[in-house]
Amino acid sequence: MTTSFNPAELALPGIRELQPYQAGKPIEELERELGIKDIVKLASNENPLGVSPAVQAALTTAISGLARYPDANGFYLKDALATKFTVDINQITLGNGSNDVLELLARTFVQPQHEVIFSQHAFVVYPLVTKAIGATPVQVKAKDYGHDLDAMAAAITDKTRMIFIANPNNPTGTFLQKQEIEAFLQKVPAHVLVVLDEAYYEYVPEHERAPSMQWIDRFPNLVVCRTFSKAYGLAGLRAGFAVSHAAVADLMNRIRQPFNMNQLALTAALAALTDEHFLAESIDVNQAGMTQLIDFCDQHGLNYIPSHGNFLTIEVGPNAADIYQKLLLAGVIVRPVGGYELPNHLRVSIGLADENDAFCKAMESILSE
Ligand SMILES: *Cc1c(COP(=O)(O)O)cnc(C)c1O
Repeated sequence: MTTSFNPAELALPGIRELQPYQAGKPIEELERELGIKDIVKLASNENPLGVSPAVQAALTTAISGLARYPDANGFYLKDALATKFTVDINQITLGNGSNDVLELLARTFVQPQHEVIFSQHAFVVYPLVTKAIGATPVQVKAKDYGHDLDAMAAAITDKTRMIFIANPNNPTGTFLQKQEIEAFLQKVPAHVLVVLDEAYYEYVPEHERAPSMQWIDRFPNLVVCRTFSKAYGLAGLRAGFAVSHAAVADLMNRIRQPFNMNQLALTAALAALTDEHFLAESIDVNQAGMTQLIDFCDQHGLNYIPSHGNFLTIEVGPNAADIYQKLLLAGVIVRPVGGYELPNHLRVSIGLADENDAFCKAMESILSE
């Protein structure tokens, strides 16, 4: 009898409450809807330079090997990461994007009776993975759009099992100095894991970067997450990783799907690590584009949240949703952030000069209506 089959009643309570992740609108979708070409997508913090030539060459060679399963341990990539970051290979967990690693962390360590702390306006995947396992999300009010580490430390209880910190944060671009994070880590008790999500690390000026992976010896409850999706330009392949205490990595690797990073992702990530020139160029293009968008905001009296990432979150006012729609009609896709309790802002990823220009021109004409 299937007369009253109600899957929602059968699902885990935490999952019933979830809203599906809202991704940036794909270019192809807007093309289909409007029948227009030359669409500019500044909505998902992707690398506007595309895929590095070194990666493209490596991928071409790898295609002929795709009948075989990938190396379940990702040895060559882990070995290269261990060398580059001066950590032990046993400290690394590979992910199908760093979102995969964030979820693995929650599934390995957090149980339904636990609390997970994160900041208001922080990356949506933190509440998502928390609710999916039925644990209690504890959102701490932001300070100047960024993490309030004192308030986050004060929110720790006996039930807290994990704290997520995005640095720089998405979608605000806010940044915590290394001294602040180090002082915070000193306050966190040993029953709490601190997950430091550094997806935008490469865009941070070198002198401001935290030696986060080197802190793990002193703070074995610290986990550092990085990704190949942003500065390395591999968002479409899904490649990310965590560096942690070896015992933490060992536990995560027990529930990790053995082939969670596919062969093309492994190959591309390894090649991307060798292409320092592409990385440097990506950072330069980002800096130039950031200046371009900030100048535009300054000229038009628009407030923005100062950003350490590859995007700028701009306060466009209470009709942000309207402006988002009008930008779509003009062929420019940006990201509404109402779901992040920022209903008056739009997040604009930094593109190439002419893409940023397309945004500025479209925005200018909308503002002068
Ligand atoms: C983009 C982003 C990630 C990375 O996601 P992937 O799954 O590696 O593509 C992780 N954390 C934050 C805060 C991000 O903005």
